[in-house]
Amino acid sequence: MRLEDKTALVTGAARGIGAASARRFVAEGARVAIADRRIEEGEALANELNSERAGSAIFTELDVSNEEAWKNAVGQTMSAFGKLDVLVNNAGIIRVTPLEKTDLALFQKVLNTNLVGAFLGIRAAMGPMEARGGGSIINFSSVQGLEGREGMSAYAASKFGIRGLSKTAAIELGPKGIRVNVVIPGPTRTKMTERKGWTDEQYNEAYGGYPLGRIAEAREIANVVVFLASDEASFCTGADYIVDGGVLVGKPRA
Ligand code: NAD
Repeated sequence: MRLEDKTALVTGAARGIGAASARRFVAEGARVAIADRRIEEGEALANELNSERAGSAIFTELDVSNEEAWKNAVGQTMSAFGKLDVLVNNAGIIRVTPLEKTDLALFQKVLNTNLVGAFLGIRAAMGPMEARGGGSIINFSSVQGLEGREGMSAYAASKFGIRGLSKTAAIELGPKGIRVNVVIPGPTRTKMTERKGWTDEQYNEAYGGYPLGRIAEAREIANVVVFLASDEASFCTGADYIVDGGVLVGKPRA
């Protein structure tokens, strides 16, 4: 029970890495607010977790790019659990388009979700965290937060940006007892990376040249989120936690 008595709000938790994190949090003793704009899937996960441990989860509808919606989501979490210890800014979207097809609306949509969403989350959560003497904020970057990639101008800009936001937040919030860290997942098997009709072998083949030679399961990323949320990470702040199966260590094997 590494998260016993902790309460957390996880964005984008209706599915993928966010859902895997919410499951691990509850398994480790936490109570979790599943915050997502996908109502049906989010409520289903909250029901599943509550059937495992009564009172362990709520669903709260949240579009992370909407400041008012953040007030509501944090308010509902505080009403249900009485405090907020952990915020996971996991919600994200990707668009793969060359620059000439990346219009302003597309660029802003990706930035508003992936970067502005985390900024609004930090602003909404820092007051309640400070009031109880501290907390842990975990922001999601990507391998594309450390290197560019064709067709990913908006996504890479948002994922580089979140690292700058996180380091600055760590400086400002450290004295308030709030730790701020970044998780950098490599390729992970979720809806975001789904390719219609692909088999397990095809997924692993696509990443076969990298050191671990396969795609990750969402729970392998969630394991690191649990660590950063827990008191085991009490001296960790402002850092990037790479969980990429070695994708970033160098060029793939031939
Ligand atoms: P996913 O598409 O499976 O899930 C994303 C979740 O975010 C969904 O439930 C979606 O409804 C929610 N979401 C999207 N926009 C939202 C908004 N405006 N408000 C609230 N919720 C919103 O994606 P995933 O693979 O689980 O990705 C989770 C995070 O990990 C993202 O930040 C992503 O960029 C990052 N990441 C993923 C991978 C990967 O290979 N899957 C790799 C690196 C980084």
